[in-house]
Amino acid sequence: MNEKRFYNFLEKQILVLIGWSLLTGLGFTILSVLYNVAKPALIWYGLVMAVSFWGWNLYKQYKYTHMDGEQLEKWYLQARLFIYAMFGLWTILFLLYIKENIYNLHYVVIFTQIGASVIAATFLFSDKKIFIPILLILMYPLVVYFAMIQEAYGYFLAVYSIIFLALLLYTSNKSYYLMQQIYHQAQHDPLTGLYNRRYFSDYLEQMLHSIEASEKFAYILLIDLDYFKTINDSLGHEIGDKLLIEVAKRMELFSEDTHLIARIGGDEFMMASYEFDTFEACMQEADIFSKKLLTIIKNTYIIDHHHLHISASIGIKKIGNTRMKASQVIKEADTAMYEVKAQGRDGVIDFNTVLARKADNTLEVERKLYFALKSNEIELHYQPQLDQDQRVVSCEVLARWHNETLGMVQPSEFILVAEKTGLIIDLGNYILVEAFKTLKKWDEEGLGLEHFSINISVRQFLHSSFVYQVEHLCDLYLNERTRKKLIFEITETLLAEDISKIISIVNALKELGISFSMDDFGTGYSSLSFLREVPIDELKIDRIFVSRLSESDSDEMMISTILSLANIFNLRIVAEGVETGEQFRFLMEHGCDLFQGYYFSKPLKQEDFEIYAHQQNIIAKRIASRRTASNFIQAS
Ligand code: C2E
Ligand code: CA
Ligand code: CA
Repeated sequence: MNEKRFYNFLEKQILVLIGWSLLTGLGFTILSVLYNVAKPALIWYGLVMAVSFWGWNLYKQYKYTHMDGEQLEKWYLQARLFIYAMFGLWTILFLLYIKENIYNLHYVVIFTQIGASVIAATFLFSDKKIFIPILLILMYPLVVYFAMIQEAYGYFLAVYSIIFLALLLYTSNKSYYLMQQIYHQAQHDPLTGLYNRRYFSDYLEQMLHSIEASEKFAYILLIDLDYFKTINDSLGHEIGDKLLIEVAKRMELFSEDTHLIARIGGDEFMMASYEFDTFEACMQEADIFSKKLLTIIKNTYIIDHHHLHISASIGIKKIGNTRMKASQVIKEADTAMYEVKAQGRDGVIDFNTVLARKADNTLEVERKLYFALKSNEIELHYQPQLDQDQRVVSCEVLARWHNETLGMVQPSEFILVAEKTGLIIDLGNYILVEAFKTLKKWDEEGLGLEHFSINISVRQFLHSSFVYQVEHLCDLYLNERTRKKLIFEITETLLAEDISKIISIVNALKELGISFSMDDFGTGYSSLSFLREVPIDELKIDRIFVSRLSESDSDEMMISTILSLANIFNLRIVAEGVETGEQFRFLMEHGCDLFQGYYFSKPLKQEDFEIYAHQQNIIAKRIASRRTASNFIQAS
């Protein structure tokens, strides 16, 4: 049973016991006064009051959240003694009056003794250490008494009492196990058998109180498996489940009961350490333990003949010194874990002061971003995309934020913050409006772009009003022809969401004439399944591959593979981050359609883009005519 609930329950039973003993005890004492056999009853009732007073004090002493483990243990022992004492008193009353035949008071004590047994069996079944001895204390004298009558009915009653005792023990025991089972289920993760999130939070809350009282130290770990979803998606859930069970087993084996382990989500686990006397000892153990744990998780798994490898991102949060809430502790371990993910996964990071400062910074960005929208600090830049003749045929819209105190904030930073806070919905909308206005203007001025790409973030894409918003803005700013120029760039991180939902949103927007591009292609693990399932029109090769082109043959292989793949799926290919003529020529020779990067131009302000596009298109005409001429010469 959950410790806290068990103690809370026991605390209430103390009151029930006091109330019941005082009340029925008083009744009996009055009865004995009426029959002139009051003396022992009065002394006995005095004892009941004294024990009740003790019980009352125990009741008042109990404050689960303010007691450490040792104090709780002591309290529990006293509570148990109190319960023994109270039921013991009832047995004493029985012994005192069982011989009282004149007024038939022995009937009353026999009845009370049986009643007390039923009460013990029904109210105290949650603890075997309590109900078993008490039932024995209550029923044993009864059996002996009946046997001592030495008549047939007496023996019958003695046997009957033994059966009754056995039944009471049996049913309490059954209830006890049933309750244990229910509590086990409520506290454990059915797949791995580890504790669940709820139990972990309760446990952590108690641990924080205990640490505060004892002035010791401890740490928690948040362990998230890397790319677990890929295994689940590619090999099926059954294998995914087996892998999770194996990981859980390894954790348990390695920690050897020194840590409390819980599975708190799909592929997320938490561990809580034991307590340390000094901060240094805690720090050292956290470091050694987590690194060893990571190596152990990374060892090969053999599951149904598959050799599987998985790594993990582990965040550490140390506890001690300052008063914290469980939710805050978990959040900070989470922040540390996300830092590992951001740094490329497969590692361990401690939520130290640097991260705390970073979290503060995020908070500041968050606050300022909210006002940035209102005070027009967000501006759009446009990066040209050129075709093989180096004509500007398209552009990508990129958001820029200039803030007075923060300076230039990178989109990679503020888009992330906006996603986290939900501000992305307003921000994304603002970007759509401004971008649509530009597209409309350029179309009216005859700039002649064929496509116009806008980045859409996951949360924006999945928001319930997204399709409606886009429809509404299309009606407001665009006509049928300009709509067809629109391309929404999405990333495969979307794949973590419900695929049928994604497809239905994509299809609804395609109805409007909008096409889709898959951004950062090749960086994730599920690129191929994305291609198979989502009806997209364009691929953007991530600039990581382009930048490594001259360095490694495997990247060249990668790019030519992507290009032939695009051919099969009939997709347009855009290369991002083209920085050198060499890269451009390689990509062109391998059939890439569009090129974007600093080799041609950085993202430009609206006016600068217009100028660039005009000049570049003049150059492109020359290039094109030169090419036709050389083709002509070759042909003839
Ligand atoms: P992205 O979609 O991959 O955008 C391409 C990034 O590559 C841009 O960075 C661009 O300035 C940069 N880039 C382009 N050519 C080169 C090059 O030759 N070399 C190098 N080193 N970099 C190049 P930026 O503008 O900092 O944007 C970063 C990310 O922020 C974008 O990555 C995109 O994911 C996000 N983002 C930017 N604007 C928006 C927006 O309006 N909405 C959404 N949802 N996300 C945006
Ligand atoms: Ca993009
Ligand atoms: Ca990209």
